[in-house]
Amino acid sequence: MSIRPVKRHSKAMPTREGAGVDLFRAFGFEEPSAFDPFLLLDDFRNDRPEEYAAGFPWHPHRGIETITYVLAGSVEHGDSLGNQGIIQPGDLQWMTAGRGIIHQEMPQGDAQGRMHGFQLWANLPAALKMTAPRYQEVSSADIPEVIEDDGTKARIICGEMWGAKGPVEGIAADPVYVDVSVPPGKRRSLPVETDSHAFAYVFAGSGTFLNASGPRRPVTEAVGEVAETAEPMVDNRSLILFDRGDTVTVQAGDQGIRFLLVSGRPLREPVAWHGPVVMNTRQELVQAFEELQRGTFLK
Ligand code: FE
Repeated sequence: MSIRPVKRHSKAMPTREGAGVDLFRAFGFEEPSAFDPFLLLDDFRNDRPEEYAAGFPWHPHRGIETITYVLAGSVEHGDSLGNQGIIQPGDLQWMTAGRGIIHQEMPQGDAQGRMHGFQLWANLPAALKMTAPRYQEVSSADIPEVIEDDGTKARIICGEMWGAKGPVEGIAADPVYVDVSVPPGKRRSLPVETDSHAFAYVFAGSGTFLNASGPRRPVTEAVGEVAETAEPMVDNRSLILFDRGDTVTVQAGDQGIRFLLVSGRPLREPVAWHGPVVMNTRQELVQAFEELQRGTFLK
């Protein structure tokens, strides 16, 4: 067993998207190879309807998959192919845009005005960029939840962990997407495929992702004492990118810790990215935007 050390950690940054939605972006645009096959993660938790109600009106996507996981409030979805639906709390929508869709995503708050959720973008390999669009709508009840002896809970959205298999299927990058809650004070190891890129995004509580196995050096109160391992304490809106290994180990703080743990096999292909369209070459990008202008984008 080898622990994946923390390669880097950062905080999600405030960003305005769509028709004026205030959200936090954990990663996106800067360095696609670091998170390959994932491109972007947006945290759109917001308790102020005026900051999200304008939503994401009609816009295109090509060459990617968008994965929307809702925790509170709902997202009404409709597209130019006639698909529509509402993503409710606990539900997930895995949309393969493939050769192209034009859709809108309109968030609605719950009774308290809260809209909480995440959208992850996964890249498609060259061979599937122009595949037919596809939706996998998963309702909360169909997402298996595993509870371990120490009280750690994991909702398995995609991929396999601890003997449970998520309902989302047929994804090229073989991703594992789990929503993990570790109780206060507990230390927990989670398996991650060695060859995958893996990251965690913390959205409740706090804790530390360990860089090595074995007993930690006790934390001393002495002034000027530096901990032997540079393991950062992470909390809400922290993004942790892991290095290679086959497990991730977390030590939960006093309030416990809850995070998304996402991993997938890197595609290692060239990325040509402009806004909602992600292709392999600049020429394919130009073609996509020309087709949008000409009205021939949808196949
Ligand atoms: Fe979209």
